[in-house]
Amino acid sequence: MDFFNKVSSTISSKGKDVTKRAKEIAEIAKLTGQIAEKEESVKGAYIELGKYVYESQKEDAPEEVAEKFAVIDAAVEEIEHLKREVRKLKGKQECPDCGKEVSYSAAFCSFCGAKLPEPDPEEVVEEGEVTEVTEESAEAAGPAEPVEAAEPAEEPKTEEI
Ligand SMILES: [Zn+2]
Repeated sequence: MDFFNKVSSTISSKGKDVTKRAKEIAEIAKLTGQIAEKEESVKGAYIELGKYVYESQKEDAPEEVAEKFAVIDAAVEEIEHLKREVRKLKGKQECPDCGKEVSYSAAFCSFCGAKLPEPDPEEVVEEGEVTEVTEESAEAAGPAEPVEAAEPAEEPKTEEI
């Protein structure tokens, strides 16, 4: 690094400046640390700001940011879908009331006591058996919608590969 080469040549040619140089280096490190810290807080504020703008305007996204909103919408939807897949494989569901993870076959939430949706027997994953319903198998079975009965207001299946 250029900076350190300069430092070392300074040290060798002007030994008595070493203390002064060392102090400067320490000062530079301190200031650089402060800059990094402030940059982090700017980044954090931008994220908060972005969340605020998204939350407050997602119903009617301004044209300038509509594309970013769409990216967030799609990713959030996909995350929810993936979480449901994970839960299903674990034989769990999310309590619609408190959001905690509870057994898929439970009638009531063990945390808040809320009534849970009726489990669809076809959806319950037997131990060691994965009853995943893929687009293909659903089509092969007939024209009916893919089985997603736990939450009828399911997102469209457009993103599935
Ligand atoms: Zn609950």
